[in-house]
Amino acid sequence: MAYVTSAGAQPPAPPATPPATSDGCIFCDALASGDDRGNRILRRGPKAFLILNKYPYASGHVMAAVNRHVGSLEETASEEIGQVMELVQAAVRALGRAYAPEGFNVGLNQGRAAGAGVPKHLHIHVVPRWSGDVNFMPVVSDTRVLPESLDTTYDRLLVALGS
Ligand SMILES: [Zn+2]
Repeated sequence: MAYVTSAGAQPPAPPATPPATSDGCIFCDALASGDDRGNRILRRGPKAFLILNKYPYASGHVMAAVNRHVGSLEETASEEIGQVMELVQAAVRALGRAYAPEGFNVGLNQGRAAGAGVPKHLHIHVVPRWSGDVNFMPVVSDTRVLPESLDTTYDRLLVALGS
């Protein structure tokens, strides 16, 4: 699993999203599907949506993406970016309620060279952070306790977003 394995390191760059499994786009496929729970879509808006990262850097790692299949800031309308940022803000609020993180990494990678895993569909990562990020990685008797499941995260964030 692609979780943090070294605590206390420098703040990481926003992680790349694993490539789409087919020739489709994971964001467009998720939007087109009617199964928001299965696709971990947390909120849909007219121009943007919020989705849980299935390959989280940390529990609570979400992405706000434009609805349209465009890969650069130049191609987006200001109202699209505005809605993406509203979702980023809603995510930060919800994550704060549900997880009380000490900080956030919020980042956009435009282009493969910049680390974008899905370079053709613009999205912004929101990753909750803790000092050293040890809260999610307690070691008990040499056994690493895995972070919560995506299902649990999804449910917690849905509740937190709803209020
Ligand atoms: Zn797309």
